[in-house]
Amino acid sequence: MLTLDRRTFLAASAATFAARALPAVAAAPHAFKHGSFDVTVVSDGHLVLPTSFLAPGAPTLERETLLKAAGQTGEQYNSPTNITLIRTSNDLILIDMGSGDRFMPTAGKLWDNLRAAGIDKAKITKVVFTHGHPDHLWGAVDELDDLVTPDAAFYVGTAEWDFWSGENATRGLPAERAGFVTGARRNYAAIKGRVKMIKAGDEIVSGLRIIETPGHTQGHVSIELAGGDGLIVGGDALTHPLISFQYPDWKPIADHVPDQAIATRRRLLDRLATDRSKLIGFHLPYPGVGTVERKDAAYRFVAAA
Ligand SMILES: [Zn+2]
Repeated sequence: MLTLDRRTFLAASAATFAARALPAVAAAPHAFKHGSFDVTVVSDGHLVLPTSFLAPGAPTLERETLLKAAGQTGEQYNSPTNITLIRTSNDLILIDMGSGDRFMPTAGKLWDNLRAAGIDKAKITKVVFTHGHPDHLWGAVDELDDLVTPDAAFYVGTAEWDFWSGENATRGLPAERAGFVTGARRNYAAIKGRVKMIKAGDEIVSGLRIIETPGHTQGHVSIELAGGDGLIVGGDALTHPLISFQYPDWKPIADHVPDQAIATRRRLLDRLATDRSKLIGFHLPYPGVGTVERKDAAYRFVAAA
């Protein structure tokens, strides 16, 4: 009863906050067809992050101009969290599970938003994780550490699993992110009996393939959907609607291996622009769906109309 009350309270206060400050984020799911797939983007709410996380080492003038253009001049900014749900004739596949209820009060809204959209989470058959950060993984368990989707199969990149399970996670992350390791291990422990390790080229179902996009984390993966000019669910390879595209060489605080993340961004941007594939970005403005165009010596994100 206690946990239910707490959850109800959190949902209610978040709803009040959202209604006052962010009416556009409490949006209905964004659904479209891609090839043989039905794709739906559902919001998990948003994160509130220090603006200083956004490429602190970048040249001051360019950085300030860009943050002004992004409307991010305050101490903190809101980062949307867009979860992709893919329906095939046999499967309902979730890419990442959101924050759950132990990360930030503004996030962890996935299950409520799915229910509001008439989607039964018990019907989810497969879950693919792009990486092990809280806003992507911690929604796997409820407040009692039980799996939210106990019948689903889970897919995690081998390198990602090894990183969070191993010594490097405890030694290699800044002290303020020590909780990320505890949380990743808690959620990994819950999925352990149902998880399959994945690597580049693996197909989860026909036409849904894993691509390696490391750097944001050691084993970060993206998901490629066949059909038309292609679609890539890019996780956190491209996190900011301006910085990631105009200045792919800038280094956001959240990237574990900054130089590798830069190389991955450049490779992914080149591919998206060349192939004219669709992109779904987890932290891009909701629903995070769009395409990438070349602009000057870099790129720009064009949100789908
Ligand atoms: Zn993220």
